[in-house]
Amino acid sequence: MIRNRKLARSIADVGWGMFKQFVVYKANWGNKRVVFVDRFFPSSKLCNDCKEKHVMLSLSDRVWVCANCGCEHDRDQNAARNIKEEGLRILQESA
Ligand SMILES: [Zn+2]
Repeated sequence: MIRNRKLARSIADVGWGMFKQFVVYKANWGNKRVVFVDRFFPSSKLCNDCKEKHVMLSLSDRVWVCANCGCEHDRDQNAARNIKEEGLRILQESA
């Protein structure tokens, strides 16, 4: 996201590194675990139903239809589901 000029300034203002530190601190405080998904994981572009990658998806595409299975996705909800699944996969691998 930091490579996108429109988002870079907002993310830099928030202080992404500081935010991550707070999340880890709070998780440790509550005896929880934090899993970081790779920054290049294609969470928005991956169809959550069939796992087909939509390579031409742009940031302005808020809703898209998978060319493989025909499923309609809200960009953010689809990304959230993919990130959750990837996080659970990473947890299982490290267990
Ligand atoms: Zn699909």
